[in-house]
Amino acid sequence: MSEIYDVAIVGSGPAGYTAAIYAARAGLSPLVIAGSVTAGGALMNTTEVENFPGFPAGIMGPDLMAAMQEQAEKFGAQVEWDDVETATLDGDVKTLVTGGGDTYQARAVILATGSAYRQLGIDGEQRLSGRGVSFCATCDGFFFRDQHIAVVGGGDSAMEEATFLTRFASKVTVIHRRDALRASAVMAKRAQDDPKLEFAWNSEIAEIHGETSLESLTLRDTVTGQLRTLDATGLFVAIGHVPRTDLVKGQVELDDSGYIVCEGRSTRTNLPGVFACGDAVDHTYRQAITAAGSGCSAALDAQHYLASL
Ligand code: NAP
Repeated sequence: MSEIYDVAIVGSGPAGYTAAIYAARAGLSPLVIAGSVTAGGALMNTTEVENFPGFPAGIMGPDLMAAMQEQAEKFGAQVEWDDVETATLDGDVKTLVTGGGDTYQARAVILATGSAYRQLGIDGEQRLSGRGVSFCATCDGFFFRDQHIAVVGGGDSAMEEATFLTRFASKVTVIHRRDALRASAVMAKRAQDDPKLEFAWNSEIAEIHGETSLESLTLRDTVTGQLRTLDATGLFVAIGHVPRTDLVKGQVELDDSGYIVCEGRSTRTNLPGVFACGDAVDHTYRQAITAAGSGCSAALDAQHYLASL
């Protein structure tokens, strides 16, 4: 701890790096505490991003994040690959302590902590995580070559994971609790047109079987209650996300679902000098481009705050 930064940004997804680019170009020399394993955010676990404006041929998620990092550093952002473990956010100077044991101080803090995978919360999900149960197809799909893989969820994430997994699997079964998908039309059609992909409609996972690795699933029909066995040896859970806001709970106002509450259309939280952006705030749009846009807003709000001091 030697200097007091103007701005410290917690998180390094599209929101965090966009905030860093804007803050750096404003001459604020921001510190980005990027995270250790979560650095780069959710796009690090994505394959091709087809809808980020400016890339008509698409771009791989990790490539997009590497480019954002490079752009932030080019303008003078300092990136640290560490996790903030405690944050003291009241007062004029905020203090952030990392898992690596470093303490940083800043006059303004931008929270861009993103979200984490939502879990089913059923027995066996945690125990067999990494042994047949996974939350990331691009990370783990390779290990399931020629196996029957189940994917649970009906949104874009589930369609993306399921379609990607057909590269490796002998068969992919999408388990969805309703009879209609939430996914966007283009991604739903791509999945439905895939010959290796089947749908278990109106179905939920009642039980996960296996001691040391996944052996099978019991599905329950959500309409009739009937049980049946699915002989899948891989399960990918893709049922959305929960905001990663535990760090600031009790200091920054959160809504009932744990998202950070901001004042009106701004990124201002209830604490002066603390701003929030990206998926930690947004339970509606949750796109890379909207996260990037809100990161820009957070940097501008922080800039105005610092100018007013
Ligand atoms: P989502 O849209 O919230 O979908 C979650 C899905 O999981 C829903 O189908 C939901 O069922 C189901 N679900 C939730 N809790 C469940 C539970 N406990 N048990 C069983 N099923 C459960 O989440 P997402 O798919 O992660 O997408 C989030 C956002 O990111 C969306 O805006 C999406 O468009 C975007 N996204 C975009 C792309 C892309 O464009 N390349 C890729 C991935 C994600 P119900 O439908 O019944 O509620």
